[in-house]
Amino acid sequence: MTFYRRTDLDDLDPGDGSVNVSGRASRLFEHLGRIARAASVRPTGETAVTPIGCRRRPGRKPCKGRIRVRRLDVPSTVQWECPHCGDSGEIINVRGSEWDLGAARVPLPEDEEGQQEVKVRITEQQYGLLSALPLLMEPESEWIVAKAEPATHGDVRLTGPLDFWELLVWELAAAANHEESRTRQRRLNELCRQLGNAVEAQTGFRV
Ligand SMILES: [Zn+2]
Repeated sequence: MTFYRRTDLDDLDPGDGSVNVSGRASRLFEHLGRIARAASVRPTGETAVTPIGCRRRPGRKPCKGRIRVRRLDVPSTVQWECPHCGDSGEIINVRGSEWDLGAARVPLPEDEEGQQEVKVRITEQQYGLLSALPLLMEPESEWIVAKAEPATHGDVRLTGPLDFWELLVWELAAAANHEESRTRQRRLNELCRQLGNAVEAQTGFRV
């Protein structure tokens, strides 16, 4: 059995940056928000595979599918589907919302230095760690997470301009400082070091 859901972000978003839902609804909202952000940083009309895992549990086992997204501009819609189990839906009113990380909201750096592209491969577990963080503070950091692509062996590739990486690494260090679980703190610190080292190796800049 498959589902088709139509979600209007305007119905869920109180408009003041806070999200007025809790528990299961909150997790679903986060999931759909992640899908909307992933679509907002990709070209219009193209279907793209994301590393976002499907949330369904057919036969009580987690579905192994990775969500595919397609963004349409007129009307502003994000279509999504899981190629594994067929779960699908669409999200409307993404454009201009806090889930929109497109060029209007997050312009790429203008200077050559800040534009330098850095690519880093991380594990699926590390991507899960990043995705589970509450929204990062800067949309530029979210942009890198939203742009993530699946790589071979279940890994995930993060790509973005140097300026955005600077913010992401800084915010991860802050998130690690505030993390209460020792295990998660150690993993966040490891990820932070790994990303920082990769940025330095590729650009010569220590972030
Ligand atoms: Zn699925």
